[in-house]
Amino acid sequence: MSEILENIQNKLQIIINKKFSNDSFIKRKIDKYHDRWNFCCPYCSDSRTNNRKKRGNLYLNDLRYFCFNCGYSTGINKLLHDFGEDLSLQDKYKVREIQQNATKFEKKTHSGQSSIAFQLLDMVAIPKKIFFKVNELTTPYKNEFCSNYLKLRKIDITKWKYFAFNENTKELFILNINSQDRIIGYQIRQLNDKSQKARYLTCSLSKMYRDIFGKDINVILNKLLKKIKYGDKYLIEEDGIENISANLDRLSGLFNIMNVDVSKTLTIVEGPIDSLAIENCIALQGATKMNNYFDNVANVRYLFDNDNVGKKHALKKLKEHKKVFLWDMYLKELNIKCKIKDVNDLQKSDNYSLDYFNKCFSDNELDVIMI
Ligand SMILES: [Zn+2]
Repeated sequence: MSEILENIQNKLQIIINKKFSNDSFIKRKIDKYHDRWNFCCPYCSDSRTNNRKKRGNLYLNDLRYFCFNCGYSTGINKLLHDFGEDLSLQDKYKVREIQQNATKFEKKTHSGQSSIAFQLLDMVAIPKKIFFKVNELTTPYKNEFCSNYLKLRKIDITKWKYFAFNENTKELFILNINSQDRIIGYQIRQLNDKSQKARYLTCSLSKMYRDIFGKDINVILNKLLKKIKYGDKYLIEEDGIENISANLDRLSGLFNIMNVDVSKTLTIVEGPIDSLAIENCIALQGATKMNNYFDNVANVRYLFDNDNVGKKHALKKLKEHKKVFLWDMYLKELNIKCKIKDVNDLQKSDNYSLDYFNKCFSDNELDVIMI
């Protein structure tokens, strides 16, 4: 057993021993299964008539707790805290890391109603006006250098709202906006060849709040959660504000996340510019290792870059029976000889055929040679 689980077990056992000190040994025993620990719920005390009936469960993949008797659900940090047995700061941090890695994409619910994470994002999204002023930005429409760049990359003019430009530094900002044109995150690209800065730089929501307003977003989120329906419950279930802001940061790094419809075919690509050419598409923006985040979305398909790293990811996904784009199939069928790395390369070389494009996704493991 890992050290963190051992520490959790010790604390949990103390709580249960105290709570059920007058009951039998059976009532105080933690039953261990491969995926969860099962024990008497310290919140509702579980069954009064049957000592063997234990309906509290700690799930080991995400260290979240759920009781099938009283319906209480929370993370392990909150549970231990509620009974005065907090883990060390270091262990708490480890718990959060495990919980973050286990978090799956929280789907927007049907009929346009959004989940709490998306409600929060809409509430904290920053108006373009403020963002442009602070970062001394202009729109691509007003700058020739920038508009030429976008034209050269064959980016449709209706998509230029996703871009902004700093004339002094020659930095292109790719904006992650919501339906109201407000910003939740962004990526910077250096268009100045002589720039010493990293070519791509992604900025999360919490960093934006620090940079622009000098504020800690956790404080703001705490206030907002008090105002919205089920906000308190959400805070408990997510095991603390740190998990919520970490999840929002992750979402803010996923380009176009606010504008997709998960009930339709959802395409996941690597680059934001590629994503603009595809309907209902999200770009991972360098967070390629995060692709498992979408595994519980029914109509998801993946289009990784046509390079070694991209092919490796596609291979792995295909083995998991997920739909991936078959680059070799596409390029051979259309007899494309020039070097193509991504969708934007197809656009630039006038080789982007939407009809054929959609036919080149497969979840059949036998298609592995076509990747
Ligand atoms: Zn309970």
